[in-house]
Amino acid sequence: MHYPIIPQLYEASKNSSDNIQQDCSFMMKFVKNYAMIIDIAGIYKRGYGMRNIARIMKLLSLPMALTTTAYILFLNVVEYPQSLTLVFQYISYILFIIGMLLGLRFNKSKVFFLCLILGISQLLLSNDYLIFPFVNDKLPDIFNILALLLPINLLLFSLFKERGIFTPWGKLKYGFIIAQFIFAWWLLIPQNQSLRLFTYYRLLHFTLLDTFAIPQLSSLLFLFAFLVLCTKLYFNPTIIDSSFAGVVIMTFIGILLKDHFLGLNLFYAMAGLILVIGVVEASYFMAYKDELTGIPARRALKESMLKLSGKYTIAMIDIDFFKKFNDAYGHAAGDEVLHRVASNLARVTGGGKAFRFGGEEFTLLFSNKTKEEVIPQLEELRKNIAKQKHAYKRKRKVNGKEKVVTKQLSVTISIGVAEKNENYKTAEEVLQAADKALYRAKKNGRNCLCK
Ligand code: GH3
Ligand code: MG
Ligand code: MG
Repeated sequence: MHYPIIPQLYEASKNSSDNIQQDCSFMMKFVKNYAMIIDIAGIYKRGYGMRNIARIMKLLSLPMALTTTAYILFLNVVEYPQSLTLVFQYISYILFIIGMLLGLRFNKSKVFFLCLILGISQLLLSNDYLIFPFVNDKLPDIFNILALLLPINLLLFSLFKERGIFTPWGKLKYGFIIAQFIFAWWLLIPQNQSLRLFTYYRLLHFTLLDTFAIPQLSSLLFLFAFLVLCTKLYFNPTIIDSSFAGVVIMTFIGILLKDHFLGLNLFYAMAGLILVIGVVEASYFMAYKDELTGIPARRALKESMLKLSGKYTIAMIDIDFFKKFNDAYGHAAGDEVLHRVASNLARVTGGGKAFRFGGEEFTLLFSNKTKEEVIPQLEELRKNIAKQKHAYKRKRKVNGKEKVVTKQLSVTISIGVAEKNENYKTAEEVLQAADKALYRAKKNGRNCLCK
């Protein structure tokens, strides 16, 4: 059996333990500095540092698990029936086609184009670059060019905005892909030999990188693409971006194992799988999460209500005088407040699960809790929200000059609570009772709780 990476690593460590030590200390410094920089930027920008790192790790856990699975399979599957060869050969293409169809259906142009790029690159890698039939003597050069263009494409297509597949923007992207073929052809003409040498350029003295059978620049570009996507995840953690980071890892390993039928196909298939799962998860997220506030929406509430049994309590929450707030400060400020109130609700203690019921109304479900058990938590929540000040900035003309004025705004909420009992037997009835209690809270002067 031949493990392409491990023996090379092993040899490298045997021959130059000093270098490996140097590499390790360099890597440690690099990771520490990277973490420190994005952490400082995160604290500065949004006020959450380590919490987001934990979220990124959670989002990346699926790509990581799939990578590990693929690697274990790759190391252990030595012999397999002939019939499976066909499966291994085509499974990734099937996944890419599914990804493209899902991308089309759900308007995810990034996934569509990434699947297209992966498909093309796998075709090139596994068929001895059939698209370049007249330059067979330059196979290593073609491979190097592909290895350099691939991470650049993965990064760009992950960062491009969602702007459709058959729109003018989409056509521009096809043009970009075709232009790269022309560029590669041009690089391969004999006069450009010196330019092609650039692909062998070694930027760093880094033993580990030299053990990989791809150009050093390519490894660095893959690393760069991965770090950019992780940084993006840090500031805006989304499922789809975590899939893109996963695709970068899979493709990198896939290309390292390009000479191994199983390795290449397995890792490319995993890249396709990650994209397919990413689209499905993102669509699920869209259907069940409220876009503005990020907490689950009415549809999710309905499903959760069906699952309630035994004792439970439901609270309905409504922001007071929100129409006036909108009228005075505008919809954008109103949206910010909705987001903040929702974040407060999502963090409620006592096992409550928050949903946006609609508009400026929210619902909290407490399963296995009585009314009396959750009222202290709800009162604390209400007081906390009333205490919070939202810094609201807007441009104002003062003496003919535009100035940014900051105002401290706050809102209050009213709460109605009801629990399951002999009178209210279904979740629907409990919710209606909570809504009636909320109405009473409004009548009692707002910023209070009624049961
Ligand atoms: P009350 O204290 O009786 O609840 O008064 P209210 O003004 O909060 O209640 P009302 O139901 O009359 O108005 C609700 C307002 O909530 C109307 C609308 O302007 C605002 N609203 C609903 N959804 C959104 C939203 O998504 N964004 C913003 N900015 N405002 C919203
Ligand atoms: Mg309302
Ligand atoms: Mg209201």
